Amino acid sequence: MKLGIFRRPVGKSKSPVLFKALGKMIGRKINYVAVGVKKGGFEGAVEIALKKGWRGANVTIPFKLEAANYATRLTDAARVIGAVNVLRFDDHEVVGHNTDGDGLRDSLKRAGVRMSGKRVLVFGAGGAARAAGWALAKSGARTVHFTNRTAATAKICARELAPSFPKTRFSAGAPKNADIWINATPLGQTGNPDKSPADSKLRAPETAVDLVYGKQTAFQKHGERLGAFVMDGTAMLVFQALRGWEFWDKPLAGRRAALAERLIEEIS
Ligand code: NAP
Repeated sequence: MKLGIFRRPVGKSKSPVLFKALGKMIGRKINYVAVGVKKGGFEGAVEIALKKGWRGANVTIPFKLEAANYATRLTDAARVIGAVNVLRFDDHEVVGHNTDGDGLRDSLKRAGVRMSGKRVLVFGAGGAARAAGWALAKSGARTVHFTNRTAATAKICARELAPSFPKTRFSAGAPKNADIWINATPLGQTGNPDKSPADSKLRAPETAVDLVYGKQTAFQKHGERLGAFVMDGTAMLVFQALRGWEFWDKPLAGRRAALAERLIEEIS
């Protein structure tokens, strides 16, 4: 199956390594390439992929919104989250989907983190923050607060997600007491400042989840100092990739968790 990822020309992607390993594990030929796309070049890159017979593609920053506009149909998850990280090229349509939210839920379940009834504080208000809010609300979180460098965007996130989850209270701001913190900013990622987005006045959460992966960031150290259970974004990355594969191919059903363990080991 021909697949790939559209990303900014800079930086490295773990996805080609992940899908190569997955192909070996499930005995399928997966031809997955990373394509660096310049500003304004997204549509052209997709057209080339279509001509080459790709089945679909992953999409990363900064193309998740462009991908949502490009798709001729959106799944419910992509529509509510408002960002697309997976495109599937069917015969008569391009379907946009979002697997970041389910990837995060899978990774929290794997770690034994209870989400139902919890008060969640999400740092950031971009695509990953919205996916995190969606995921936690879907799992029964009591409240989801967004706090962001640009405060207005946090309010928009809360306002737009709220109608889909009547049992969860959404708002903007950073309450002192939260059970789960989620860093959905790129702080700590290569090329960005490494500082915790969480104010030192906030009380200790039970769990601090960093969507940044592959390194110990200031956010993770902050969580550890407070005695929280801390996890990075490696497992989420693997689960969102597996769910992407299932969207292009067919459900892995009972095999997903075992494959995830092997893939997490492969890229750690
Ligand atoms: P995005 O749409 O560009 O949003 C970035 C968010 O972070 C925005 O709210 C932005 O605030 C904020 N931000 C950016 N730079 C900041 C800074 N220097 N200080 C404080 N806030 C800052 O990006 P995204 O797609 O949501 O991704 C966010 C992070 O999650 C990235 O590190 C990405 O790699 C990671 N991620 C990981 C996974 C995984 O599987 N582990 C999946 C998806 C994303 P403004 O609104 O003020 O610009």
